[in-house]
Amino acid sequence: MNKLKSVCVYCGSNFNGDVALRNAIKQLAETLVKQQIRLVYGGGSVGVMGVLANDVLELGGLVTGVIPQFLMDKEVGHKGVTEMIVTENMHQRKQKMADLSDGFVILPGGFGTLEEFFEVLTWLQLGLHTKPIGVLNVNGFYDPLFAQMDMMVQSKFLKPANRDLVFNEAKAETLIDKMDDFSAIPDEVWFRERNLS
Ligand code: AMP
Repeated sequence: MNKLKSVCVYCGSNFNGDVALRNAIKQLAETLVKQQIRLVYGGGSVGVMGVLANDVLELGGLVTGVIPQFLMDKEVGHKGVTEMIVTENMHQRKQKMADLSDGFVILPGGFGTLEEFFEVLTWLQLGLHTKPIGVLNVNGFYDPLFAQMDMMVQSKFLKPANRDLVFNEAKAETLIDKMDDFSAIPDEVWFRERNLS
């Protein structure tokens, strides 16, 4: 029996038409629906967000969108989702998305996607939640980001155990299976010998 009942997906409000990404979105939608996991996402009908929501809906899955009023026009609030929650601002949106979800998946995207990713990752590192976080690393899109994390470890800004809190997988089914088995063991964020000057 799946522990994950709902998963929040952070992803781009643009879509570049990449075929590998299109397939990855479809496979993620199929995995979610097959495992009866509700999709929670930013509520837009544009970009990767819209493609993913449409795929899940077409397969008969459940979709909750969470969107602030001011983005209803810009991100073209999806008209066909199972449930749409309209918030007053971005902070409420992110809090709501996090509260409604048992885990977080990151697909390719831009600044917004990264901001949301690192917020839930730092919350996990601080022990503010214990939910799994997984990057669906389509065609190595996020390899430079993981390389940057390794650089942070080498430079002693990040502990190896915290670097390893996030899953990095290319296949949706593998990612969701790993997330389902996750139990959080964050290390203390601060290095004991941190004042090295
Ligand atoms: P992007 O990856 O930049 O295309 O943005 C993806 C999603 O993140 C969109 O729904 C944006 O509205 C959202 N987003 C952008 N900036 C922020 C932010 N500071 N806090 C929360 N969500 C954001």
